[in-house]
Amino acid sequence: MYKHPSIDRDKMTPAEGLQILKEGNQRFVNNLRENKDYPSLLEKTKNQQHPFVSILSCSDSRAPVELIFDQAIGDIFSVRLAGNIASKDAIGSLEFGIKYLKSKLLVILGHTSCGAVKACCDHFKDASITDVVAKITPCLDQEQTTADLRNSSNAEFVQNVSDLNVKHQINEILEHSEIIADLYQKNQISIIGGMYNIESGEVHFFE
Ligand SMILES: [Zn+2]
Repeated sequence: MYKHPSIDRDKMTPAEGLQILKEGNQRFVNNLRENKDYPSLLEKTKNQQHPFVSILSCSDSRAPVELIFDQAIGDIFSVRLAGNIASKDAIGSLEFGIKYLKSKLLVILGHTSCGAVKACCDHFKDASITDVVAKITPCLDQEQTTADLRNSSNAEFVQNVSDLNVKHQINEILEHSEIIADLYQKNQISIIGGMYNIESGEVHFFE
């Protein structure tokens, strides 16, 4: 059932947060999204926010996190960049969500058929898009199961790189954010990767 932001999120564990996301995604997949009382949510959150989760996900128009997890205002501190890349600005935003807004759960969410990942697979270059693609490029070397057809025409290769990219961005965050790495090592937050399937609507978490 949809949890209202008025519940005490200080007492919520990261595992409970993950369970809320899983249940919300099941409602989305089954077309059972719950009605949200937006005026009430606006009133509850007008002076404060306490998002239970911070999510780094892709800008792709087919992967809006509040919809696919059936959440509402005040629930998700959302950072979206093409390819769900952990750029310096993305990491700074996540640090704010976690340290100051007290999200106890951090999700790095990739998705199937990601254009940024495909661009990387094809060594695409154009203006500042090149910089986005470069943040995914290390995953090409990490992908060692595909011998031939290492480009975007190979859906399996693209998916392997997408999976690796989620893990790579988690490593980037831990490497470049003392704040997040410290809280993670002290078991005060959980970090989990996930993959959203743009055909089925399902999110698979890497547990
Ligand atoms: Zn994408």
